[in-house]
Amino acid sequence: MTTPLYIGACLCGGVSFTMMAEPSGINNCFCTDCRKNAGGPMQTNAEWAGDVMQITDADKLVTTYIITDTASGRPKIKCFCKRCGCTLWTLYEKGDMVFRNVRVGLIEDGYVHARLSSAVLHFGAG
Ligand SMILES: [Zn+2]
Ligand SMILES: [Zn+2]
Repeated sequence: MTTPLYIGACLCGGVSFTMMAEPSGINNCFCTDCRKNAGGPMQTNAEWAGDVMQITDADKLVTTYIITDTASGRPKIKCFCKRCGCTLWTLYEKGDMVFRNVRVGLIEDGYVHARLSSAVLHFGAG
């Protein structure tokens, strides 16, 4: 049994998840899709390659909205909780790999938040 490195949940707690690996990076995306999805000037994500997420969703709340009109021509699958409306993650392909951009605000305190804090402070001061 491996100890999860990160745990997270949506606003209502109906969807929770654990990540068993380090993210490959954290990104702020300012594209129109992400701004609308986040309801703000940008969306901040931690990116994981491959299938490293274990999802608990007893009430089958995870719902998808698929964007097909993308710059790459490949679909972006946006996942959200249908009970609380919380945006969760986006699935997308680069090369022959599947990536998952997880909203950093869902992840409990730890490494990601520590790395994020300077970016948020910088954004707030800018
Ligand atoms: Zn929820
Ligand atoms: Zn974007």
